[in-house]
Amino acid sequence: MRSITSISPTISALMGIEPPALAHGPPLSDVMRAARRVFASKTAEKCLIYAADAIGSSLFNRHNSTFSQVTRNAPIRVQLSSVFPPKTPVCFASIFTGAQPKAHGIRKYERPVLACDTLFDALARGGKKVAIVAVEDCSMSIIFRGRKIDYFIEPHDDEVIERAVRLLASGSHDFIVAYNQGYDDVMHKTVPESPLSLRALRNHVRDFNRLAIEMKEVWSDKDAALMWMTDHGAHIDPVTGKGTHGERIPEDMEVNEFFGLYPRT
Ligand SMILES: [Zn+2]
Repeated sequence: MRSITSISPTISALMGIEPPALAHGPPLSDVMRAARRVFASKTAEKCLIYAADAIGSSLFNRHNSTFSQVTRNAPIRVQLSSVFPPKTPVCFASIFTGAQPKAHGIRKYERPVLACDTLFDALARGGKKVAIVAVEDCSMSIIFRGRKIDYFIEPHDDEVIERAVRLLASGSHDFIVAYNQGYDDVMHKTVPESPLSLRALRNHVRDFNRLAIEMKEVWSDKDAALMWMTDHGAHIDPVTGKGTHGERIPEDMEVNEFFGLYPRT
């Protein structure tokens, strides 16, 4: 199984830019085959990523119908392995550098600003206007600081979505990543499939659908890529009885990523 480190090479190839320095390995073949078929130019001018924390494959497998708006908007499903340890800053560093933890340096739950090259740097070098929209004090709002990109740090998930909708409408950016953490928050307080956790999951799906609808409208004259992204899964800690992640087990390590490709109309 390929790893989440293949996401940066894939986004780079999709957007026609050189990948970040530490990224290695080819882009995901399913996505690139579709891009060659769908886009006249073979590449996407615009890209919107919705990153929802801790939505592992087991959640998709056991609550498949909940994901119908994800699979409808982003039908190319790619099964990937997370990186070890499957902790949020470790995983997002690997996703956005294209490198294993030993290469990018975040090897446990710690949140330094990454000194190494990232997809955000690569996109900026490629002339793309980039926005990170994330919840205050989350890993996504901290470890990628200091790039030549725009940061929109919001108090909660809802404001992240509202901001992303406004950014889409303004046409100001070529690449937007909107990060939400509602499911992860609730899962840690309860268990991965508690009623509250599943409600948080449904909220993520609803918000992804909203962003997808908005994106399709405002970028209708552009070749555009949409992605549902996640970083790792979760399991029940036998000691605390609550949701957690960080072990080398399928529940934590196996994820699905979803891509949708929209040619200009
Ligand atoms: Zn996480």
